[in-house]
Amino acid sequence: MKAALDRALNVLRDDVRAMSPYQVHSAAGLIKLDSMENPYRLSDDLQRALGERLGRVAINRYPAERTQELAWALAAHTKMPAGKALMLGNGSDELISLLAMAVCKPGETVTVLSPVPGFVMYELSAKYQHLDFVGVPLTADFELDEAAMLAAIERHQPAIVYLAYPNNPTANLWDDAVIERIVAAAPGLVVMDEAYQPFAERDAMGLMARHPQVLVMRTMSKFGLAGVRIGYLMGNAELIQHIDKLRPPYNVSVLNAEAGLFALEHAEVYDRQAAELRAERERLQAALASLPDVHAYPSQGNMILVRVPDANALHAGMKARGVLVKNVSGMHPLLARCLRLTVGTPQENAAMVAALRASLAEAG
Ligand code: PMP
Repeated sequence: MKAALDRALNVLRDDVRAMSPYQVHSAAGLIKLDSMENPYRLSDDLQRALGERLGRVAINRYPAERTQELAWALAAHTKMPAGKALMLGNGSDELISLLAMAVCKPGETVTVLSPVPGFVMYELSAKYQHLDFVGVPLTADFELDEAAMLAAIERHQPAIVYLAYPNNPTANLWDDAVIERIVAAAPGLVVMDEAYQPFAERDAMGLMARHPQVLVMRTMSKFGLAGVRIGYLMGNAELIQHIDKLRPPYNVSVLNAEAGLFALEHAEVYDRQAAELRAERERLQAALASLPDVHAYPSQGNMILVRVPDANALHAGMKARGVLVKNVSGMHPLLARCLRLTVGTPQENAAMVAALRASLAEAG
């Protein structure tokens, strides 16, 4: 038994065996403001209507037409420019993995580059595929370091440059003139990850329209369907066609596709929620500004990064008061003493600010 298990374990990659698993923390019993979910559920009427729709889906069949219809509906919803194509992922996490697969050339050094701190899946997906990851530190005020980005692109000739727009966890958009120069310098793909687009002032559709090497990635997660798992990647039709070959053929289930279509038919509900969250973000900024020793950074997403005197103590203090936020202080030196607060409902945000205030008083 033991020998057989050892042989089986031995065929697994050494680096995989040495990895720590991606941690999904339980938020049971807590106000969950740690992962940029939309806090609003559908109304009871809409939830019932969705249930009826899902109840009619033929789950004995593999996904086919409805998945294609979802892709078309998303292309229409986003006003995707002519000549571009769209592929679906089981969340944008899956698309990031497929992109890593698409550029991996065994025996060659292939690099994925992105500013850091940034979204962790760019680095993890590279590691899973034996690609090199180059993280270029942002400036102290979380802007792109243009000179460092251009130098790193020149030196490493990355197959993929990821620019999260807005960035996670810093929640800011990049300077468009700097992006243009990065696109001009990049020898391969430039992926604009617009997970937080519903909350931002600008997007990269125009950039994509002008440059065949620019892909735009979005997700329905922050729109209000994080549990459904639908991401999509748009770009030059020929490029997308090739990347799409690596997609498991039935990666988006019939239930996901139906729920996605239902959501797009009710897009005005989600647009209203996004508008409320943007307004609530500004109210939260004002409340945070009144707290002593808390520096809140500007945000174009549904989260606010704050620098506090002691992130570990305050994270624990808030959790003890029933509020879960994300402690990002260990992610990167630039994030020392930082917490990332997701914008929730007015009640949730009031509880979050109260918990932060009480934890500050306790720590001080
Ligand atoms: N991109 C960014 C920048 C993110 O922050 C996230 C999730 N937090 C994702 C992509 C992944 O989103 P999903 O897999 O839910 O589509």
